[in-house]
Amino acid sequence: MSEDLTTKIKSLTVAIDKGERTFPSLLERASIYQRQKKPEEAIADIKRAMEIARQRGRREEIGKCHFKLGLVHYGQKKYAEARKEIETAVEHNCKEPTLEMWRTKIDYDMKRENEDKSTPATTATTAATSTTTTTAAEKSPENASKPEPAPTAPSTSIDAINMHAPLKVKIRDDWYQTNDSVVITIFAKNIKESELQVKFSTSGVSITFPTGAGSEYNYNIEHLFDDIDSAESSYRVFGTKLEVTLKKATSQKWPTLEASNQAAAPIATQSSDAPLSYPTSSKKAVNWANFKLEDDDDGEGKNESEFFSQLYANTDDDSRRAMMKSYVESNGTVLTTNWDEAKAKTFETSPPEGMEPKKWGTAQAAIIACDFMASTSKHLLSFCRKMHVTSIPMRWGSGNNYAYLLLDQPTKNAWLIDPAEPEEVQQFLAKSKLNYELKAIVNTHHHYDHAGGNQAFHKLYPDLPIIAGKDSPLVTYTPSHEEIIDLGDDVSITALHTPCHTQDSVCYYVVDNKTNERAVFTGDTLFISGCGRFFEGTGEEMDKALNGILGKLPKDTRVYPGHEYTGSNIKFSQTILNNDAMKKLADFTNKNEQTTGKFTIGDELEFNPFMRLGDPAVQKATGATNPVEVMSRLREMKNSM
Ligand SMILES: [Zn+2]
Repeated sequence: MSEDLTTKIKSLTVAIDKGERTFPSLLERASIYQRQKKPEEAIADIKRAMEIARQRGRREEIGKCHFKLGLVHYGQKKYAEARKEIETAVEHNCKEPTLEMWRTKIDYDMKRENEDKSTPATTATTAATSTTTTTAAEKSPENASKPEPAPTAPSTSIDAINMHAPLKVKIRDDWYQTNDSVVITIFAKNIKESELQVKFSTSGVSITFPTGAGSEYNYNIEHLFDDIDSAESSYRVFGTKLEVTLKKATSQKWPTLEASNQAAAPIATQSSDAPLSYPTSSKKAVNWANFKLEDDDDGEGKNESEFFSQLYANTDDDSRRAMMKSYVESNGTVLTTNWDEAKAKTFETSPPEGMEPKKWGTAQAAIIACDFMASTSKHLLSFCRKMHVTSIPMRWGSGNNYAYLLLDQPTKNAWLIDPAEPEEVQQFLAKSKLNYELKAIVNTHHHYDHAGGNQAFHKLYPDLPIIAGKDSPLVTYTPSHEEIIDLGDDVSITALHTPCHTQDSVCYYVVDNKTNERAVFTGDTLFISGCGRFFEGTGEEMDKALNGILGKLPKDTRVYPGHEYTGSNIKFSQTILNNDAMKKLADFTNKNEQTTGKFTIGDELEFNPFMRLGDPAVQKATGATNPVEVMSRLREMKNSM
């Protein structure tokens, strides 16, 4: 590897010295220096390249150099300088597709760094009078002395990268109060006192402990409803839980745990190290102007109420945005179509008596808006769906693959699933103007048209975990069957092992706990009205995958397969099945190029012959009754079509 790079540097140097392709060669050599952790050399090359671009008067090329300088500074953790270079790149019309991603990433790290500076290190003694730091290790002299050393600089080893994986096991929390104290309970088993940190300040509390698999639980409230006596506050570890008792500074009933101007619920996160946790302040405002409201004429919404169909018929996108923004922000009490008014203002609401305002965040209001309006407007229906899953077509016309961006709305945490073609994916995302922060690259299986982007994304984001089955390149974490991983506040993902197409096939079942939306990313295991070939498995395994696992998911779970194969699939399934669901699917597919996310597990159970092994029509067509035999024969018939 390093020899390759050295050879490459030599040939680039020859080209540069000869004056051949000097500009791109300098930038390429700079990238290699950067990878070799030689920032000074990289900067020197980029500055030479910038000089050439200036002499030629090429604005975009100057922008590109500033972009590259930004990346080098980012690598040096000089975030302010990195930010400045990226800004200058933007001013010079730099067209790098990852520019926006980097801008978001740098902003986030800057913020994180500032927060770190303002929070005293837990193991250091601090003179700050308002903060009392108590670690269990300090309290019990037997196991006192050394706190765990911080993990050393990341290498490319799986363990090191796993330490950065934002994996979470669900840990529930709750609180109650007496007249003079508040008790927060964290339901986690076997917390080691020596690794637990509980910090009290006069206005807040933070709790941190490792949960195994290199991940860490963080619970932070910056602004409690009222001040506490930090010296008198305490905690106790039990076998199944941790109890933290906050001593109230003033005896009075707290209507909420957090100060009322803090809209969000306490943030409990888990991640590899504390800085990766997501404090309330990192939440970004919804960018209403960027929401796409599409007219997907899919025949849904025939029963629209007179009111909404008329309203929609006469409104443009801006008016629709205004409606959605006003309705959501006001918790359903204001509906305006005036975008000029709506874009600048925040619509207030006073929650009904007895309701806590914090329970009425944007997401909550969005559910109400969606529940109420979804049945009346197909536009809003598509808006609701697009909040969480973005389908990214790749290799269109050849493999017809899909990558997906799965987003947790409140935290903006995102998974990028099967981004096999990095350039196509990045261009698509740059255009989409979505607001997100990548937390993992994820594969459904190891085939190149799903996992082929891992190398490139790993180069771009070396700290990002690659979550996949065991055979994917550069995989850093393979979740167990039925392991639950939280993406953020709302979205939880369950890994489902479905070996057959490949032995390492994993489907990801996703639930949005706020909206109750469900989706499953099925890779090449389940297609709409079809299934993948049995490259590494048997009919028995596919039967288990489709009918023992995926077919048992809730019927309203939307199916997001790895390819758009519906058109060719139905050519086969129509020869086997001839029911209403099949006809509707054929009709939809004739009119729409993309069918992903438009159908559910419930639909599959109707129109997918591979999921109707007991259907007399399917048994007749295959001449078999034993489910495994029916499955195997169906696949053979499809293969020979
Ligand atoms: Zn495949």
